[in-house]
Amino acid sequence: MNDKNDLERLRIQIRGAVQGVGFRPFVYRLATNLGIAGWIKNSAEGVWIEVEGTRSQLDLFLLKLEQEKPVHSLIQQLQVSSLVPLDESDFEIYPSVSGEKTTIVLPDLATCSDCIRELFDPNNPRYRYPFINCTHCGPRFSIISALPYDRPNTSMNAFQMCDRCRTEYENPLDRRFHAQPIACPECGPRLEWWDQSGKRLASDETALQAAIQAIQNGQIIAVKGLGGFHLMVDARNSDAIATLRQRKHRPDKPFAVMYPSLAAVQKDCEVSDLEAQLLAASEAPIVLLRRKANISVLETVAPNNAYLGVLLPYTPLHHLLLSALNFPIVATSGNLSNEPICIDEREAIQRLSGIADAFLVHNRPIVRAVDDSIVRVIADREMILRRSRGYAPLPIAISKPMPNCLAVGGHLKNTIALTIDSNLFVSQHIGDLENQATLQAFEQAIDTFEQLYAVHPDLIACDDHPDYLSTQYAQQRASKLQSSQILPVQHHHAHIAACMAENRLEETVLGVAWDGTGYGLDGTIWGGEFFLANLTDFQRVGHFKPFRLPGGEKAIREPRRAAIAVLYELWGEAAFDRTDLTPVQAFNAQERDILQAMLQKELNTPWTSSAGRLFDAISALLNLVQISTFEGQAAMAVEFALEHISTDEVYSSVIHQGIFDWSTMVEEIIADIEQKTSGAMVSAKFHNTMVEVILQFARQWKQKRVVLSGGCFQNRYFSDRTIARLQAEGFQPYWHRHIPPNDGGIAVGQAIIAASQLLKRGG
Ligand SMILES: [Zn+2]
Ligand SMILES: [Zn+2]
Ligand SMILES: [Zn+2]
Repeated sequence: MNDKNDLERLRIQIRGAVQGVGFRPFVYRLATNLGIAGWIKNSAEGVWIEVEGTRSQLDLFLLKLEQEKPVHSLIQQLQVSSLVPLDESDFEIYPSVSGEKTTIVLPDLATCSDCIRELFDPNNPRYRYPFINCTHCGPRFSIISALPYDRPNTSMNAFQMCDRCRTEYENPLDRRFHAQPIACPECGPRLEWWDQSGKRLASDETALQAAIQAIQNGQIIAVKGLGGFHLMVDARNSDAIATLRQRKHRPDKPFAVMYPSLAAVQKDCEVSDLEAQLLAASEAPIVLLRRKANISVLETVAPNNAYLGVLLPYTPLHHLLLSALNFPIVATSGNLSNEPICIDEREAIQRLSGIADAFLVHNRPIVRAVDDSIVRVIADREMILRRSRGYAPLPIAISKPMPNCLAVGGHLKNTIALTIDSNLFVSQHIGDLENQATLQAFEQAIDTFEQLYAVHPDLIACDDHPDYLSTQYAQQRASKLQSSQILPVQHHHAHIAACMAENRLEETVLGVAWDGTGYGLDGTIWGGEFFLANLTDFQRVGHFKPFRLPGGEKAIREPRRAAIAVLYELWGEAAFDRTDLTPVQAFNAQERDILQAMLQKELNTPWTSSAGRLFDAISALLNLVQISTFEGQAAMAVEFALEHISTDEVYSSVIHQGIFDWSTMVEEIIADIEQKTSGAMVSAKFHNTMVEVILQFARQWKQKRVVLSGGCFQNRYFSDRTIARLQAEGFQPYWHRHIPPNDGGIAVGQAIIAASQLLKRGG
């Protein structure tokens, strides 16, 4: 035994992601193994530990605490203070206490390998139980309604644990110790199989078998999952896919595909080591993978697309379905176009009965919609394009403590963000704020963050655009709460700041913000922007030569209008005589007259300096997409037109007094098209020219740090080449990894700008 005089006692407070990850049982085991006495308890602030032992025992404890902590845990702050020893002999886990709310809510985690093994083990009590989980996996963010993360604060509240589950739940040595969603066939949620009217046709295993059969028969089924409903259908059945497209009013937009295994994915797609890791990670995102030729998945699943959005089963229910089917299935969001994903089975019957033939549902309530995340590998790192399930609501760490600022984001791909201390919390993907349902989800996301973390923002940041619903929300809130001020943030400054925040940059950078649309300081549409920027201010030092977009918003959906706009800027009225060019051909004579009149009279023809619209124009000139049916379609088509071409050839890049004049480039492109140069070659030269434009600005402004943001950087070839060329010339390019380069990152930029401005004002 220890000599009593050698004993020391420490109090340890840990903040970070330390709840719902098996942290307490880990500490219990560690302390017990080392012969250390004391206790541990959860609080809303994190975890409190008191440990008592010899100096060497305690040193070892602190070392192993960091080294051997559970995989999904994250220690952000660890404070140690000394206490008087109490000469205790046991180590105990104390009940949770409430208090200040600064702990981190964990995202939903894909089913772990231990649970998968048990799921398919006939001798296990949870054999084929679709809701098996443990402290290493299962729902978290989608079931929590308040902190601390304890069962009464989750939607598992309604389920009374059976004796077996309770024994496991209370045993510190069990894998399910304090696994809040713990459940088994006796006491937990159950499956049901419903028809379109919501009538129950079967339960449990019979329901599962009915769903499997329906998919095999080519039916479309709605499946209630972790963060919402999916629509699922055989990815090899052309009639089924066509029906789904028609019912969902989604003619071309790619569907994601769930494969039964990584091996099956590798047969159909090129998968790098990093991509394989991403697929199998507990975040289990949709990974964009280059597809191979002649694969089992039909072309109509992702028409004219060089890539396929692929994911692996991430819930026990998915594992049961896919292991029985053993073929890839479409797994697309259970919603009507542009509405949020359905989370409630009764609501799903109303909203999805025109799409789904039947419903596989369960009675574990989903507290909030959490869509599948989307990831792409760019410059050998992952880039999150849609940050939702598996990632949200984990914060990004910022370099110093900041005031509390709420950012309400942009209009498309909306997310919201909140700065608290040294954390910047980002919501899950909410969607385009175009309808009442999405607006409700947006308000719910704000309420969730403010309630979970019990904060009232000192400042509310929004976009400069007066018509965005998010901006209007911010204005209404600010007028109601006199204490909260409002800060409009320029759209592209927010893009740059978002990228700076995740790369922990504060000093002035050259910011390159290229996207489709953002409200400019002069009231025109910006989108091909070069800024000298820091976290509080920016100066617009360059941009694309502006052109007039006939039809405004309509031109966003019709790349042929962007092309006409560019040609009109080049040649004036003569542009309309060039019926040899496909975008001109794409309009009939009457439509051409109307467009011409609009441009002549400058009616509904807003000026834009958008890079995205120039990509659109090239897409139309190459006759790839004249009218798009989903956002980003034209830009993707220009990227995919590259195929596997490798060239360093470029067109002319004329920059005069900070303005990139694309006129010469477009004339050279038209000459190439007239000479029947391949679309792949034209696309490559166009991309290369865009990269050279960035290089020229970088050389001119001599800023070592070049920050790349905006939707255009979702393009792999363009990003890879820009990064490589900048590095080759000694610049330090920074790009996105954890925060989307598209408008899903706007809230992060707004939040960091607002917080930085408050800090600056405060001195
Ligand atoms: Zn598990
Ligand atoms: Zn049970
Ligand atoms: Zn944008």
